[in-house]
Amino acid sequence: MKVIIIGGGIGGLSASIAMQQDGHETVVYERVSELRAAGAAISVWSNGVKVLARYGLLERTKRVSGKMERMAYRQWDTAETWCDFDLNGLYDEVKMRAYPIARSELQSMLLDANKPAPVHLSKMAISYTTSDEGVTVNFQDGTSDTGDFVIISDGTHSKLRNQLTGKDIKRDYVGYVNFNGTIEKAHLPDLPADTWTQFVGQGKRVGIMPMSDTHFYFWLDVTTPLNTAPTSPSEWKAYLGEYFTGWAPAVQTLISKMDVGKIARVEIHDTAELPTLIDLASGRAVLIGDAAHATCPDIGQGGCQALEDGFVLQQLFRAHGLSKDAKPSIEQLRAVLANYEKQRKERTALLVKRARQRSDITHKLASEEVTNSWYEELKQEDGSGIMGGIIKTILGAPKE
Ligand code: FAD
Repeated sequence: MKVIIIGGGIGGLSASIAMQQDGHETVVYERVSELRAAGAAISVWSNGVKVLARYGLLERTKRVSGKMERMAYRQWDTAETWCDFDLNGLYDEVKMRAYPIARSELQSMLLDANKPAPVHLSKMAISYTTSDEGVTVNFQDGTSDTGDFVIISDGTHSKLRNQLTGKDIKRDYVGYVNFNGTIEKAHLPDLPADTWTQFVGQGKRVGIMPMSDTHFYFWLDVTTPLNTAPTSPSEWKAYLGEYFTGWAPAVQTLISKMDVGKIARVEIHDTAELPTLIDLASGRAVLIGDAAHATCPDIGQGGCQALEDGFVLQQLFRAHGLSKDAKPSIEQLRAVLANYEKQRKERTALLVKRARQRSDITHKLASEEVTNSWYEELKQEDGSGIMGGIIKTILGAPKE
């Protein structure tokens, strides 16, 4: 059985690892000529870590990630602590820690684990065709490849999503621009090195998360209409400095010390629930990751859901008797797809909605009143409310 995978991001690489674990032949095709992680870091929550652990990657993840023991919210200007709580209760409850990790580390870990399967670069997939015999993916350079099944993991701007769904899928702008990067912990001596600190107020947010022993990952959110934040890095310090006027010293330090050449600027988008994630008619194509359910990062679940998608496919391949030694039948493939849709569509759509609601509150995009009452809740928070929500998300993950 040969599985073609479109896109070498978190979704595509992890799905390839999952398929290879069971001896299936995989080949990854990636649009860019050089794989470089986009963005500074990512927090892999416990549900995502459990998937990495199943691929034998837990020890390496632990080694290269930040130790995140606590979470704190602080007032935007005075830095007064509104709440500050231990995350170990959450980790105990879900039986796995969360690991914030540099995207470059995660990518090289996945690439290493994916070997010896090939990752072909500079291959932009533009369409696929199916027959009783298999699926052929066509590339912009005029070449093609044929396999038994295609996993479409070409991200939020997916080229193949419209073909699979039969609809013109548009991304929706969520309402804010995220500037993210890394900073040495030594520059922020007043912030505890093991705490995910968030400064909030005025409908704005700055997050600072331990990403390794030596570095914090940080992000600054600017609520602004689409295409209004400057695109030139040389303008970012002044822009952010003005937007965050009067904010706490830690935020001023972030802005003054940031290396704009290494900052990612992302206009945050998501997609409404797709009509389908599967090509049931042919039985040979599935959408995973951001191509299937692009989300805003406000509950840190986009990458985790991409990881869950590949894991579910692996479980379903096993459950429906797909073997490395035999060609799959269309009936088997259709059964895999139908179950994938059942297990993934509702869960991922719900999390996209939940992230959007979270974003609306954080960025004062729903109403001033709602955001202000959230600030008051944070002042009363002992951690149980916030952790309860995260636990619910994590425990909703697919079981083996
Ligand atoms: P991508 O990572 O986008 O990979 C898609 C790949 O496909 C790319 O390499 C692309 O070049 C390639 N490609 C595209 N088109 C084609 C084509 N036609 N042919 C071949 N290749 C193609 N998630 C979390 O879990 N935790 C977090 O803390 C978190 N924080 C985030 C912070 C920010 C600011 C953002 C923007 C996202 C965050 N996410 C987080 C979400 C997470 O980054 C994504 O959900 C995840 O990267 C999706 O992986 P993917 O493989 O589906 O897509």
